[in-house]
Amino acid sequence: ASVSFLLEEKRANFNCEEPVTHGAQPIQIVLADQDDHMFELNAVALEKILMQEQLKDLNVVVLSVAGAFRKGKSFLLDFMLRYMYSQSWMGGNDEPLTGFSWRGGCERETTGIQAWSEVFVVEKEDGSKVAVLLIDTQGAFDSQSTIKDCATVFALSTMISSIQVYNLSQNIQEDDLQHLQLFTEYGRLAIEEVYEKPFQKLLFLIRDWCYPYEHKYGLAGGNRFLEHRLQVKQNQHEELQNVRKHIHSCFSSIGCFLLPHPGLKVATNPHFDGRLKDIDDEFKKELQNLVPLLLAPENLVEKDINGAKVTCRDLLEYFKAYIKIYQG
Ligand code: GDP
Ligand code: MG
Repeated sequence: ASVSFLLEEKRANFNCEEPVTHGAQPIQIVLADQDDHMFELNAVALEKILMQEQLKDLNVVVLSVAGAFRKGKSFLLDFMLRYMYSQSWMGGNDEPLTGFSWRGGCERETTGIQAWSEVFVVEKEDGSKVAVLLIDTQGAFDSQSTIKDCATVFALSTMISSIQVYNLSQNIQEDDLQHLQLFTEYGRLAIEEVYEKPFQKLLFLIRDWCYPYEHKYGLAGGNRFLEHRLQVKQNQHEELQNVRKHIHSCFSSIGCFLLPHPGLKVATNPHFDGRLKDIDDEFKKELQNLVPLLLAPENLVEKDINGAKVTCRDLLEYFKAYIKIYQG
């Protein structure tokens, strides 16, 4: 079944309204077929997004958020969208959140990659313009076959992104590191010529962090916590050592950000629609640090493959080439 067919079926089944932000919307660009586990690229849609006249020759920044279902990825991306659309980006107290997140209960747990249909043009400090593409990815770990799908989605999104946000709940478990190793190994094997570090920036984002007295919320606390978690120790089991070495060898930069719990209304109220007044202050405060850290003009990381900057036009070709690897 084609991607567009599956999407139509998805809409028909759930009768969801497509969320609209300034006329833009999330577009499913990669879909894992749930029956035969084949991957399909919606090349037509991707071309429409990337090959616009004013974009195609700009260097591209690709920010991806990856991780398991129901851990607040789309919720975070909605705030990133607010930031990209508006200077007073946190929004009004009574404004529902729109963007990547579908209204509660509507979301079918498909494995795949979505892109925001609007690519943002941002002027950097030196006056050069870059194109910023936001990517939402999803995977489930409920069976062996879906672990493979998940690894593929993670690998693909890591290969095409310049910043990968690895969204985790509460802590970094040994499992999460092993998954990361599997995912990145999947990606690394796919790239023919591997230079020293195949991937760019990785940010571990820990949601609902509840040990701020040990490591403070934010980037500094996160980085210290990560350093501790990724430390290779002499007396450690070889497997644990290897996971850590592998992760260090894959990314040119690794960081970690600790986010507090957003409050019970966000986590449990089925009628919650993203209004700021329902979100804990501490969470909002940290979010106000996190989003610019990723998306402020001076922090944008342009996509680079083998030492060359990648334009929107190039990215489309890379997408097509990479997906072929996983279709074979
Ligand atoms: P996704 O599947 O990872 O994209 O998750 P969603 O963004 O759709 O969020 C899933 C649910 O978690 C929603 O009910 C959100 O309101 C809630 N949520 C969002 N962010 C957080 C968070 O940081 N912590 C907790 N506990 N819940 C969150
Ligand atoms: Mg989501």
